[in-house]
Amino acid sequence: MENCIFCKIIAGQIPSAKVYEDDKLIVIKDIEPKAKLHYLCIPKTHFAYFTEMDDDKAETLKYCFQTIANIYKDLGLEDGYRVIINQGENGGQTVKHLHIHLLGGEVLGGF
Ligand code: AMP
Ligand code: ZN
Repeated sequence: MENCIFCKIIAGQIPSAKVYEDDKLIVIKDIEPKAKLHYLCIPKTHFAYFTEMDDDKAETLKYCFQTIANIYKDLGLEDGYRVIINQGENGGQTVKHLHIHLLGGEVLGGF
């Protein structure tokens, strides 16, 4: 997708601090961490919103969650972490390529 910063990161056109990659997703460190550890799990398939969900995208998201469950300890999140997916204006979504925030490395405040 043209002009999508995460597609450019996936394509290697923009550098990132990548901590995991396979054929379906990457996990990178967030450039402006909101917690001691802050990662973004980014599917390689471009789509922005849950409203675009079809079987393929649902499979992709399922795979993301399964992968997170497999690698969270390697990311230093063994004591727990927060999973956030921002959606649209009111959700505070700034990058219109669906991604999963993983926050941890410390006790997080409530919201
Ligand atoms: P959201 O606001 O949910 O769309 O999240 C977008 C996130 O991407 C923010 O937390 C940004 O700090 C992060 N971000 C933006 N550009 C980059 C980048 N080049 N590398 C890593 N993280 C980024
Ligand atoms: Zn994209």
